[in-house]
Amino acid sequence: MNGIQDAVAIVTGASSGIGRAAAERFAAEGASVVAADVDPEGGEATVESIRDAGGEATFVETDVSDRDDVDAMVAEAVDRYGGLDFAFNNAGIEGTNESMVDQSDTDWERVIDINLKGVFLGMQAEIPAMLDDGGGAIVNTSSIAGIVGFPGVSPYVASKHGVIGLTKNAALEYGREGVRVNAISPGVIRTPMVERSSAENPEMVEGVSEATPIGRIGEPEEIGDAAVWLCSDDASFVTGETMVIDGGYVSQ
Ligand code: NAD
Repeated sequence: MNGIQDAVAIVTGASSGIGRAAAERFAAEGASVVAADVDPEGGEATVESIRDAGGEATFVETDVSDRDDVDAMVAEAVDRYGGLDFAFNNAGIEGTNESMVDQSDTDWERVIDINLKGVFLGMQAEIPAMLDDGGGAIVNTSSIAGIVGFPGVSPYVASKHGVIGLTKNAALEYGREGVRVNAISPGVIRTPMVERSSAENPEMVEGVSEATPIGRIGEPEEIGDAAVWLCSDDASFVTGETMVIDGGYVSQ
């Protein structure tokens, strides 16, 4: 992919699943990676796997819903690697499975704070650093739950629809200044999140998997690779877009 070599990339939610796969791909393409997550053990494992493969990465313990943490994450990229080119705002949680009227305020706030406010705080800190560095590209993780509804996970659905709106607005506001902003909406991907959702709501996960036209669930690398591509110069005219990577699920 063009334009990734020697760049600096932040990946949130990098301790696991899709974030780890994206961090590894950024590093394999020659970027220095700031791997950010609340989970230090998983984060150090991501960094170790990148370094073992000859890449460059550092872990920063970050709660994406906390402004000070997010500012420190961006400062670490700038101080350690000299600037910021790319960010994959990917950290997210699924929330509990309840019908809408039974959802608690606590769950609503937790899911919205991490999945939606986390992306907002991320972009607020990342965009100025990118502008200082001549521009850049951001990819935010939405979901097929940002395109259609899924019974039982209304805060998640609301947060992921919101991510697409924020992505479009950032693309409009910063396109002329050299920052492209896109979203990815994954279908069911084989990660610890899906293992947890499967345990709690097997019908939903199995139902989506069975209804997926391509006939299987996705792998984390199939999302991580697309995030890196959207940041690369190969996607230089792509902004404000939501790339749905779901084996065809929402096409039916
Ligand atoms: P995962 O649980 O494997 O990874 C999520 C990571 O986010 C974990 O490492 C976790 O520690 C981290 N995280 C959670 N809260 C955080 C916080 N406050 N601050 C920083 N990090 C935090 O899940 P995944 O499947 O890799 O999910 C990654 C993203 O993809 C999420 O936004 C999720 O909503 C989205 N997504 C996943 C699927 C899927 O099927 N796996 C489908 C659509 C969208």
